[in-house]
Amino acid sequence: MKTIITVATTGAWPTKKDNPNVPLTPKEIANDVYECYKAGASVAHLHMRDDEGKGTMDKEKFRETVELIKKKCDIVINLTTSGDLNATDETRQAHLKELRPDMASYDCGSMNWAHSTLFLNTPKFLEELGTTMQEYNVKPEIEIFDAGMVYNSLYYLKKGILKAPIHYQFVLGAAGGTTATLENLVYLKSLIPSGSTWSALGVGKGHMPILLGSLAMGGHVRVGIEDNVMYTKTELAESNKQFVERTARIIREFGNEVATPDEARTILGLKKEA
Ligand code: ZN
Repeated sequence: MKTIITVATTGAWPTKKDNPNVPLTPKEIANDVYECYKAGASVAHLHMRDDEGKGTMDKEKFRETVELIKKKCDIVINLTTSGDLNATDETRQAHLKELRPDMASYDCGSMNWAHSTLFLNTPKFLEELGTTMQEYNVKPEIEIFDAGMVYNSLYYLKKGILKAPIHYQFVLGAAGGTTATLENLVYLKSLIPSGSTWSALGVGKGHMPILLGSLAMGGHVRVGIEDNVMYTKTELAESNKQFVERTARIIREFGNEVATPDEARTILGLKKEA
């Protein structure tokens, strides 16, 4: 089978202090994404930072970054809708309407975030976001932090806010969500409708178990500094590319092939590049 590597280069949280190799500016992110593309990543999950390095939903930053990436390669563009916990519902969708990316994240429920604050995805917001994504032909990537979020997705599927086949991203090991164990991955995967596609990631020490478990179960994988600033228990990641290179090696050794962006578009049912 062909396995999709999604690279999550930046996220909303890691700072240069946590890892000096996290790309923050549009130029840094675009160059980093291109290196990851050459190493086998076929989807780029993107967050933006403001000039102080804080997470932002500023659509001009998204625009600049996406334009730079598109000049270099045809990697599938997947934009976050959750890049700033204080952003309004409107700001969280504005970039989708203007840039019409291939995909965007859809966090299918609310949670206590990192034991410190609220990660709010109200029913009203999720209905609006699903509708916006259908209208602008943006494929939702349903991010799942716990089992209740899978059940929410089934509700929105029934209501027509989401359309089958759904693509899920299991985010395991985030503080406040489900821990990154194989048992949890098997359980969550058992809840999704047949015909769905799915990918998984483990934050921190759950990274390798979830990556290997996902491969063994026929899923796709996400890697990158958004989820892990460490490459091993003791070494900081040198780059996002380093994660992608290791993952591509593992996929090939396992006996799968690394999906190209075009193959990822077919697998995920995305619109083709114009
Ligand atoms: Zn993200």
